Amino acid sequence: MKIKAPVEKNSTYEVTIEDLTYQGMGVAKIEDFPIFIAEALPGEKVTVKVTKVQKSFSFGRVEKWLSKSADRVETGDKKLTQTGIAPLQHLAYDAQLKFKHDQIQNLLNKTDLNIDVLPTIGMDDPTHYRNKAQVPVRMVNGQLETGFYRQHSHDLVPIEDYYIQDPKIDEAIVVVRDLLRKYHIEPFNEASHTGVVRNLMIRRGYYSNETMICFITRTQKLPMVDELVKEITAQLPEVTSIVQNINQAKTNVIMGKKNKVLFGKETISDKLLGLTFAISPTSFYQVNPVQTEKLYKLAIEQVGLSGKETVIDAYCGIGTISLAMAEHAKQVYGVEIVADAIEDAKVNAQKNHLNNIQFEVGKAEDKMAEWQQAGLKPDVIVVDPPRKGLAASLIESATKMQPKKVVYVSCNPATLVRDVQLFADQGYKVNQPIQPVDQFPQTTHVESVTVLERA
Ligand code: SAH
Repeated sequence: MKIKAPVEKNSTYEVTIEDLTYQGMGVAKIEDFPIFIAEALPGEKVTVKVTKVQKSFSFGRVEKWLSKSADRVETGDKKLTQTGIAPLQHLAYDAQLKFKHDQIQNLLNKTDLNIDVLPTIGMDDPTHYRNKAQVPVRMVNGQLETGFYRQHSHDLVPIEDYYIQDPKIDEAIVVVRDLLRKYHIEPFNEASHTGVVRNLMIRRGYYSNETMICFITRTQKLPMVDELVKEITAQLPEVTSIVQNINQAKTNVIMGKKNKVLFGKETISDKLLGLTFAISPTSFYQVNPVQTEKLYKLAIEQVGLSGKETVIDAYCGIGTISLAMAEHAKQVYGVEIVADAIEDAKVNAQKNHLNNIQFEVGKAEDKMAEWQQAGLKPDVIVVDPPRKGLAASLIESATKMQPKKVVYVSCNPATLVRDVQLFADQGYKVNQPIQPVDQFPQTTHVESVTVLERA
């Protein structure tokens, strides 16, 4: 029997928002049937027009606010929410921090783990924190534009002030955009797979101010390259690296594998916890330097190193955590899947005169199994995986090596809680509350540190 949904497309209802999804949408219910409503906050009464009905949920748009939340911040630029750069900017910062705490706590409460979560550590100024931008370059109404995609689409919305990025990066994007216009460089057209410049990637060192401009092109050739380099360096004196990254593939993956240095060096350098790091265009590097320092300090404190320990840093990127730990440990092993990042990591160890680290390219789950079979006995294992979390096989090899502590840096509460349960099955317990650190203010992303100890 087909059960009819209690809401109909294009009809309007009066509802009260009960919750926020992990993607930041308001949730209202009619006869227990959820309506997900963008820009609506818990406690608010709205009239909503249902725009889409699925089997077990629906989407709607606010027609009118009948009452507003005390946590609502009326902001200037709606484009930022529409494009998903700052999807939580309409929520007061304190409430954002609580929202992030609650996401982890609520997931834990559904298990029998009995683990608490501390209040989220926030930023004094939760704006302009990003040290990296990655923006599409497209033709919009006959003009080359840079900006961001409208949520759930590939329509470019032109933007000049991105609100959460280093303002010097915003400025650089506009300078480069204007030069691309001046020299009539053709922007990428996704539908016909034509044009030259697909994206711009810009990174700026928080302490060093060294700036990298990376043109991601569909073509091998970047026309007017000498003029572009000359004018960029004249207008933006902090630029120490201009790179062309070639990506000819028909894919949503932004960067290709091949880099051509057009000016300066292939890396920029920056500092983190007093250590110097070289960063290649395709290497992962945390985007919020202020909060990253807080996060890593916490992770290191919780490990409590004495100088005698052997540490594994899985998903090590350019070796940021590895180097910070190596200063206080006997030996560190790092593993990372991106070869360029491991090249950076090796250079970074040398630069900082740390010769007690061994870096390897590979899948963390494979290396962990190899190390375990080779009889490696780490005292501490640090994991900092992408959103999908850890492979069950990694947890198995990691726990077989019987480290005293596992430090789990997570960017996804759902996979964190799943993995903590798997660790618990192997006798690893969380004895201190989990600490969320807000790495991505104005967005729904939740980062946290969890320490697991062998029972
Ligand atoms: N700890 C680093 C990087 C964390 S981001 C830092 O804080 O800077 C996660 C890293 O995991 C990325 O560098 C990504 O390239 C890498 N990665 C993704 N899947 C992997 C896998 N299966 N094995 C090893 N590394 C992986």
